[in-house]
Order: sequence, then C-alpha cells, then structure tokens
Amino acid sequence: MLYSQFFIPTLKETPADAEVISHQLMLRAGMIRKLAAGIYTYLPLGLRSIRKFEQIVREEMNRAGAIELLMPAVQPAELWIESKRWSQYGKELLRFHDRKDAEFCMGPTHEEVITDIARREVKSYRQMPVNFYQIQTKFRDEIRPRFGLMRGREFIMKDAYSFDVDSAAADHSYEKMYDAYNRIFERCGLNFRAVEADTGSIGGSASHEFMVLASSGEDAIVSCNACRYAANVEKAEGRRGEAAAPGAAAVAKVHTPDTKTIAEVATFLGLPESATSKTLLLSDGDGKFVMALVRGDHELNELKLKNKLGWDDIRMATDEEILRFTGSPPGFLGPIGLKEPLTVVADYALLQMTNLVTGANEVDQHLTGVNPGRDFTPDQYADIRLIGAGDPCPRCEGGTLEVWRGIEVGHVFKLGTKYSGALQATYLDQEGKEQVIFMGCYGIGIGRTVAAAIEQNHDENGIIFPLPIAPFHCSVVAINAQKDEAVMAAARDIHDRLEAAGVEVLLDDRDERPGVKFKDHDLIGIPLRINVGGKNLADGKVEFKLRSGGEMLLLTPDEAVERVI
Ligand code: ATP
Ligand code: MG
Ligand code: MG
Ligand code: MG
Repeated sequence: MLYSQFFIPTLKETPADAEVISHQLMLRAGMIRKLAAGIYTYLPLGLRSIRKFEQIVREEMNRAGAIELLMPAVQPAELWIESKRWSQYGKELLRFHDRKDAEFCMGPTHEEVITDIARREVKSYRQMPVNFYQIQTKFRDEIRPRFGLMRGREFIMKDAYSFDVDSAAADHSYEKMYDAYNRIFERCGLNFRAVEADTGSIGGSASHEFMVLASSGEDAIVSCNACRYAANVEKAEGRRGEAAAPGAAAVAKVHTPDTKTIAEVATFLGLPESATSKTLLLSDGDGKFVMALVRGDHELNELKLKNKLGWDDIRMATDEEILRFTGSPPGFLGPIGLKEPLTVVADYALLQMTNLVTGANEVDQHLTGVNPGRDFTPDQYADIRLIGAGDPCPRCEGGTLEVWRGIEVGHVFKLGTKYSGALQATYLDQEGKEQVIFMGCYGIGIGRTVAAAIEQNHDENGIIFPLPIAPFHCSVVAINAQKDEAVMAAARDIHDRLEAAGVEVLLDDRDERPGVKFKDHDLIGIPLRINVGGKNLADGKVEFKLRSGGEMLLLTPDEAVERVI
C-alpha cells in the first residue's frame, strides 16, 4: 500500500474534547472522526485495526464451535414487551415509530431476537448445544458518551448466545466462551483480568467481566494477591453484603424500571442542581427513611431509584438533617453494589427502625425490604465500607486485596431461563417432554478493545500497536522519495517482497520532509519500520527499527526483509 494513495489524516494538535489518551491518539492518528456525540466514522486506518481484531474474535469463536449469523439493528417493540425489558431498560434504549406507527428500537443487545430465532427453529434436544454469534453494530443511548470508541452510543459488538438442554450443559458452554475470551485477549497481548461481575440489566445467575487494566478505566476491580479471586468492586461489595446477611431470604431483588436523572429528581424536589452530587436521604414523611444511592462521581450524574412508597411521598433531607441523622456529613449510603469506594454513614440506631431500599446505580440492582437490624449488623456495614486495597481476601486465608482500574472489554453471562422462559423457547427432550432451553450470552466490545489496547500501548510520540491488531505490520519510509530514484526503487522492492510474503506494508512515498514522516509513523504506531535513505543505501544499508523501542539496526535490504518475515 502506498501512503500517498491511502488516507491517513493525522493531526498535530491534541483535540480539546478528548480526555483519555486512546481517544486523543485515535483522532490524531486519523483512525476515527466524530459525527455526533458517541457516533464515529471509522476512517481507513482505524477500520483496518477494527477488522484485525474482529478476525481474531471470529477465529476464536469459530474454534470454540460458535456459528456466525447477522441479526438486524432494528428490533420490534413486541419482543421487548414479551421479555419485559421494554419497561425495564430505560433511556438507553432508543425507541421510535415507523410510518405505520409501529414501535421499534435500535438493538442495544440481542437476547430477544436470538431467543425468537431459537423458539422457532430449535425444537429438539438433538439441535443443542448450539451457539450463535454476530459482529454487529449496537446502539445504546448512553447518558454520557465519552472517551471516543470506549463509550460510544453506536458501537460494534461481538455478541454470542448459547442454547443448551440443561444447566450443566449451559455451564459447559459458558466455560468454552470463558476460555475463548482468554485466548482472544491474550492473542492481542493485553494485560487483563477476568473478574467476577454483577449481572446487571442482562440478568442471569453468574457472570465474568474481562477487564483491561488501565488507569483511565471506569470500573474498580479487586484481586487477591494469593489466590485467583478477582471481582468487580460492585460485585465484591454486593457479594459480601449478601453473604453477610443472616436474613437474606427477606432480601429480594426487584425490578427498578424508574430511571430518574439527578436533574429530574432535583427539579422534582425543587432543589438547585448543584445540591445533587450529595447523597440523597429520602423520607416517607413519618420518620421512616428510604435510602437512595447516588454514584459518587457526579460526572456520572445519574440516579436510578425505585422507591416503593412512590415519588409523591418523598423529600430530600438537607445536609443538616443528614448530619443529624447519621452523624456524618453527606457521603455515600448503603451497602450494596456501589461502583465507587464508598463511605457508609448510616446511623445504625436510626436505620434499625426501617425497611430500606438499597442498591446500585443500575436498573435491576436494588434490594427492597432491607432491614439493617435484621439483615446487616453495624460490623457488617463496617466490613462493607472497608473493602479495598489491603483488605483480607473473602475467598482465601491469608491473601490481601489489590485494587485496580479496569476497562470492561468483554462480559460473559449465564442466563439460565430468563429469556427462554419469558419467550417460551422450549424443546422436546429424549422422552419427548417439553423443556425450557438454558441460555448464556457473551459480549465483546470491538472498538472498545482496540481503544483499550492503545490505552495500554503508547508513548509520548503516539501509538505502539500490538502486532495482531496493528493496521499494518510494517512501514517502509522512503526518504526523499520523490527526488531520489534509487531510494524509491529500493523501497518499492522491499515493499513488494514483503507484500509477496504476506506482510501488510505501508510504503511512505510522500513528498514530505523526513521529520514529518517519522513523526507520522511514530504516531500511527505500526510495529516494524524500515527507513530507506540515500546515504545508507550508498553503503548497501537500510535502517530497521521496532516502534516499541530498542536500537536502530543498520541492515542490508535482504536482512531487513528477512527480519520482518
Ligand atoms: P459498561 O458497564 O461499560 O456500560 P455494559 O456492562 O453495559 O458496559 P455489556 O452489556 O456487558 O456492556 O456489553 C458487552 C460489551 O460491549 C461490554 O463488555 C463492552 O466491551 C461493550 N460495550 C458496552 N457498552 C459500550 C459502549 N457504550 N461503547 C463501546 N462498547 C461498549
Ligand atoms: Mg452499559
Ligand atoms: Mg458493565
Ligand atoms: Mg457488562
């Protein structure tokens, strides 16, 4: 490929609205351009990387026995009403009407559609196990799209869905996907952890997230320094709270379809918006309190609250009241499923009298009827509060927890019969008896993984692509290409020989100063580079260099070609 005939619009300046390094570098390297908030064009260089990663995902999915298909981006409301998610999913689901006034949504995920396929087509135990996957464009109307491809509204996901005859068989399918995910992220050379995770709005009984470790990651994860325990902090806390609860049976998960933004709550309560990054302590008006949790990071200013008393009975406590009731200044409140390290400030004596709603800032992640006197002791609150770096591992003796930031690049779920039950996807077993299918679902963010790889692999000059997802393997920089015919001929010869050997080569034949070319190549991060210049060529030599560092080698063109191949 000739650089002059390709399209890499690099930028010298760092775009002002790009907060994280991968977003900055993907813009500067001419990989992506923004069309609207969270909606991007993949320019040719970016698309090459995306396709590379997709290919790795495809190979590993196929190797694990999954079968590729492609489902529509637009989905009818009926299916979502059947699964009950039409009312549960909230504003992330982009809904619209067609010309006949029928309701549709842009698919944020495809459990409903694939379960509809399965209930029509998978009728016998002989047809299972089966696992379908696709690499497809999703749309989620994220409250705060940011970080480029990392949290887009339109983004490419690989999603897979397994169908099995029973729970044990489904566990086996899950393990296969878990292994495939490990292989995928290993092949990309990423530093990642598979961690225990909450099942969120997808639902189901067990799940793991694959987290690329990076300081810019939006999730906090803990891992044990002695055993293999690793969990999303959200999950680690939820687990400890639940495990610690003697009255756990009384603590039931409920759906929380009501999604209110902090601004909406503030308007409702007649409060200035600036008051809203604090904990909300809500009262039903006769001395009983209902707890509401707000994610601490007011950037994530979203409050999702289901209050069993109904909105009309609620008012927000003032800072003064919170201080009086809890003995602590406004902070975090509540034991379960918080995203951020939390400070529990509840006054135990006060909380003892009440039944509370507690939960995370996520639909479906609330517990109702929680009674701290019955379900939690003050010690356990303290326990929950203290989870973090240096804490004892909840899984093994002697280990302590380390805390990391991570980017969720993949997520595997055991779904059980949540969707197959709701949509009546059944099959006939060996005895001819009708049974409900067991499902699993498995997602990987394609663009997010490429961004996460850049987050982990860069220096002050630009991207350092891991070879497996690099847009090109090798660049050949012809110095004074337009003036020095010998240089251009030698560079072209190297390019042709590499290409013939199956190497993806970008030959920089532009009429630009060497400094400009070197800067561009450092920025776009192609792993191998051969510089062809008149002076060295007179001695029969070219320069060979790795983008990741190390010394510049002077080699004959033959040796350089040999190295690359
Ligand atoms: P997050 O917690 O970051 O919002 P999620 O848990 O909602 O992600 P899943 O429903 O588990 O996401 O989807 C599977 C995968 O799709 C995620 O692991 C992630 O890699 C990717 N993904 C999810 N949302 C986005 C997004 N807005 N932009 C890019 N990739 C995304
Ligand atoms: Mg999400
Ligand atoms: Mg998540
Ligand atoms: Mg997830």
